[in-house]
Amino acid sequence: MIIYKKPEDLHNLLEKKKKEKGEIGFVPTMGALHAGHLSLVDAAKKQNKIVVCSIFVNPTQFNDPEDFKKYPVTLEKDILMFEGAGCDVLFIPSVEDIYPNGINDLAHYDLGFLETVLEGKFRPGHFQGVCMVMGRLLEIIFPNNLYIGQKDYQQCMVIKKLVELMGLKNKIKVNICPTLREEDGLAMSSRNTRLLPQDRIKAATISKALRYIKENLKAGETNKIKNEAKEMLLQKGFLIDYVEIANADTLGLIENWDGKKKVVALAAAFLNDVRLIDNMVINT
Ligand code: AMP
Repeated sequence: MIIYKKPEDLHNLLEKKKKEKGEIGFVPTMGALHAGHLSLVDAAKKQNKIVVCSIFVNPTQFNDPEDFKKYPVTLEKDILMFEGAGCDVLFIPSVEDIYPNGINDLAHYDLGFLETVLEGKFRPGHFQGVCMVMGRLLEIIFPNNLYIGQKDYQQCMVIKKLVELMGLKNKIKVNICPTLREEDGLAMSSRNTRLLPQDRIKAATISKALRYIKENLKAGETNKIKNEAKEMLLQKGFLIDYVEIANADTLGLIENWDGKKKVVALAAAFLNDVRLIDNMVINT
């Protein structure tokens, strides 16, 4: 595995490699790796000649400065994990490399409705930050295939929209990979390491509440089942941002389900100062 820090060097290398070897798969991360991240590397390895991964804790996507400060950093372990998973090229840029003109006054992306609901509503500016970093990374790496996790359902939709806005829809394929979970159902996340031991036990309730919706949702009003799921979280001491059922393609919230439309149940909630998100698609 080769490690690159400078965007120009990496860009030049990859342009050459693409011509010599073929397809490039890209896995962007913020580090503090777990098996969920490595499953994206696995998927990329199966479909590409070269796998590029990145580690960059992106300051512009943290709407809460405290969350940024406390984001776990485990760089040495991450490098070993990426190498062990078969990553060919690891990109670890600095903030100055990603934002050469500073982090203020950057491009604005028109994400429309997506930026007004769920994560967009509760984390103002978050998706603009995601687009800034992803736009820059895609310009530098220009992969044939991009690998991202369904764990961040709305982010997947935002990134697809970004690729479209950049006019790259026919050049970069966005591959969405399934969510890896711990044995008790908790979706793997870098933030899980920040949970207090007593909260770690409670944390799986978020996936249990979503599974409850998935298994019990019936055509008609969705309010009752959402409230039941919320109650499960409240009983364990969660502070809830949202528990919603939405159209799986548009994220339009569903108050009354026709029993046919593909929907997704999504939740975001805090245990102390750790914010957890999860989702489950409900296939009819
Ligand atoms: P992050 O480092 O949290 O920005 O995540 C980097 C990528 O890994 C994103 O595309 C995430 O959606 C994905 N990811 C995070 N957690 C999981 C998981 N439990 N299973 C699969 N992919 C994940």
